[in-house]
Amino acid sequence: MNSITPLLGLSSEELTRWVIEQGQPSYRAKQLHQWLYTRNIRSLDEVTVFPKSWREQNKTPVGRSTIALQTPTPDGTIKFLLALADGQTIETVGIPSDNRLTVCVSSQVGCAMGCTFCATGYSGFGRHLEVHEIVDQVLTVQEAMSRRASHIVYMGMGEPMHNLPRVIKSLRALNQEIGIGQRQLTVSTVGIPGKILDFAYEHLQVTLAVSLHAPNQTLREQIVPTAKNYPYADLLADCREYVRTTGRRISFEYVLLSGFNDLPRHAEELATRVKGFQSHVNLIPFNPVDEARFDRPTPKQVEIFRSTLERAGVAVSVRQTRGVDQSAACGQLRRRAFLQAK
Ligand code: SAH
Ligand code: SF4
Repeated sequence: MNSITPLLGLSSEELTRWVIEQGQPSYRAKQLHQWLYTRNIRSLDEVTVFPKSWREQNKTPVGRSTIALQTPTPDGTIKFLLALADGQTIETVGIPSDNRLTVCVSSQVGCAMGCTFCATGYSGFGRHLEVHEIVDQVLTVQEAMSRRASHIVYMGMGEPMHNLPRVIKSLRALNQEIGIGQRQLTVSTVGIPGKILDFAYEHLQVTLAVSLHAPNQTLREQIVPTAKNYPYADLLADCREYVRTTGRRISFEYVLLSGFNDLPRHAEELATRVKGFQSHVNLIPFNPVDEARFDRPTPKQVEIFRSTLERAGVAVSVRQTRGVDQSAACGQLRRRAFLQAK
């Protein structure tokens, strides 16, 4: 750990090592942990229980972002555009319901995968997020919405498996330092060869959501360019291994694009692929994206697709679209702000 590593994301043991390195007694680590994770400090200087001379001269950053834009929606969902230390921006969403606060976090600035229906995909890849930049998103939403987060979904900008070591460390920090149960953490991925297995062997009790979006390889490749390097059968085999090693069922995400992958024959084919699999299919009606030449299916089309799967014995749900008129899908708020600034 070098002296400029931000403090956020560090475990109790790492904080202990750090305070000792700084020539301070080890009990200061416990105090620092509390001020970092429950009192929302933005600089060490705010830790008033620390000796004044030390906190004034110690310039180690905490690692918090600032809110650049905040767009509330009528259903209570709030989308945040956060500015990072280097001026890059990312999106984070707080989704409240009666007894939950779900935070949708980004794992990268932009995304390198280029899915043709996704606003983030059109923005291209910026960089990986550091552990503190992922943990910060949760603290920022908790603070702004005056509630503890109960569930976290890695469904904001970026492909978590492309940034796996930092994503894994952030999952551990959210679980151990902030106290969110592993089963309340969901990582969504389009799949990168080898990475689902690497993730499985971490033996976390995290939910894996796999963005499948098609019932076969040919259709999938047309909307998920990176699928060309990851045959459909191999992806499903890796998902089975995830279920086998973790005992957790998989959630298959399926964006419904009108006329492209939402016909009854697609539902029938999908059912043959995922049947007998410890899984669940989550249908997401497409959120219109400026650049993407797809249409959102009608509620009737969605219902036919859903009931076809259900009749075939597949556990299926339709994701309720929240905040859709405000800025639609993840990645769009940032893209619009970026295009307006040009
Ligand atoms: N890169 C990861 C996680 C971020 S995207 C992944 O692809 O899984 C999170 C989810 O949002 C994915 O299931 C993705 O397919 C979906 N998504 C992206 N753009 C969308 C859009 N315009 N409408 C509906 N869902 C979209
Ligand atoms: Fe990246 Fe996910 Fe968007 Fe595809 S859907 S471009 S993997 S963020």
